[in-house]
Amino acid sequence: LRRNPGEPEFHQAVREVFESLEVIQGKYPVYNDHDILMRMCEPERQIIFRVPWVDDKGAVQINRGFRVEYNSALGPYKGGLRFHRSVNLGIVKFLGFEQIFKNSLTGLPIGGGKGGSDFDPHGRSDGEVMRFCQSFMTELHRHMGEYTDVPAGDIGVGAREIGYLFGQYKRLTNRYEAGVLTGKGLDWGGSLVRKEATGYGAAIFADEMLRARGSSFEGRRVAVSGSGNVALYAIEKTHQLGGVPITASDSTGYVVDEDGIDLELLKQIKEVERGRIHEYAERRGGSARFVKGGSVWDVPAAIAIPSATQNELDVDAARTLVSNGLEAVSEGANMPCTREAIEVFREAGVSFGPGKAANAGGVATSALEMQQNASRDTWSFEHTEERLTQIMKNIHSTCLETAEEVGRPGDYVVGANVAGFRKVADAMIAFGVI
Ligand code: NDP
Repeated sequence: LRRNPGEPEFHQAVREVFESLEVIQGKYPVYNDHDILMRMCEPERQIIFRVPWVDDKGAVQINRGFRVEYNSALGPYKGGLRFHRSVNLGIVKFLGFEQIFKNSLTGLPIGGGKGGSDFDPHGRSDGEVMRFCQSFMTELHRHMGEYTDVPAGDIGVGAREIGYLFGQYKRLTNRYEAGVLTGKGLDWGGSLVRKEATGYGAAIFADEMLRARGSSFEGRRVAVSGSGNVALYAIEKTHQLGGVPITASDSTGYVVDEDGIDLELLKQIKEVERGRIHEYAERRGGSARFVKGGSVWDVPAAIAIPSATQNELDVDAARTLVSNGLEAVSEGANMPCTREAIEVFREAGVSFGPGKAANAGGVATSALEMQQNASRDTWSFEHTEERLTQIMKNIHSTCLETAEEVGRPGDYVVGANVAGFRKVADAMIAFGVI
């Protein structure tokens, strides 16, 4: 804590991993001998840079850019870029730290990293977003490479931003290095299913957890927060698996639709028009209503898939959900539930899938995009989705089996942390003290 002052989200993420690893303390002295955990907490490299750009009025704007290259024991640094006004070094470090274990759980050869900027794309024109992305990449490109560091999207960074970033990378390096960024458009090196992958994966993980407790999605009410990339496709897969997604939200409030969310309408408003969530209720009519402010978790549901941002589901929300008969939580976002909320779920016997396991489908499919780029190939939707489904099922069973092995049956948090940690730790030991 003393080494990293003023970074509460980072402390929260590290504390959770340390607590989980207490169950294996003493069992593997080799990890203590090599001081692995302390080494893992320290990023291999942290880059902070100025991002100057000119807005539509001709005024100079200055943002701050970050890339934390956290751990490359299993492969090149891999993790998204977040553009949101709340971004600071502590947030990027928490996300990068989580990414190490998540990427390890996928079983694919990728290390952990994360980056972003305090740039807020809301209300900015296409031209402004382009100029910002070009300036951001003008610094970041020297740290990237398909064998070095491979960024992707996250909050505020979708296909449009990845396009501007890739265009500038290509221009600066004079190389068509497709595998240097993931989440690319389908015409220029992107992978089918990448857009859907995180949300699909979170719903598949929920499905696996429900099956493990002898339950299912069939006809059950599902509360989803957010209305961005992850939320939209968690809603889509929930529909496909037989559940009834009834909510979506943004930072202004939430909608509840008792007939189930009309996905085509929601996609039109969010993906095509870049509109706000209240427009959904206005256009849907009858079954839907918009609640300004307030908590989406007040809506009774059997399954929750929080898919907006960190610490959006607190202890009060958790208690409300439990009293309304909640059975399972699958974290589509990164660390959306507070520590206290997770404790409430644990005590109530709710199945809880932590983000580093439940939302790993996105980065896993990014690694599949890299495989396609490396082999100059493109896979079909069906093939890629089948690989994603299998990866999510494997992550689920790895978490469950590991939790059982270390004496904490059903505890997916412990299972994910221990399984993710062991692989990285073993590789680090093999490399010596570097
Ligand atoms: P998007 O930018 O597409 O969507 C984010 C959504 O969350 C928007 O609806 C946004 O509303 C809402 N939101 C963001 N911040 C806040 C806030 N402080 N309070 C309330 N609502 C908020 O991002 P993604 O869907 O890509 O990411 C969502 C989460 O999933 C993040 O935690 C991200 O790290 C995680 N994740 C994403 C992956 C991916 O592949 N995209 C992979 C793995 C994890 P508004 O527009 O009003 O800000």
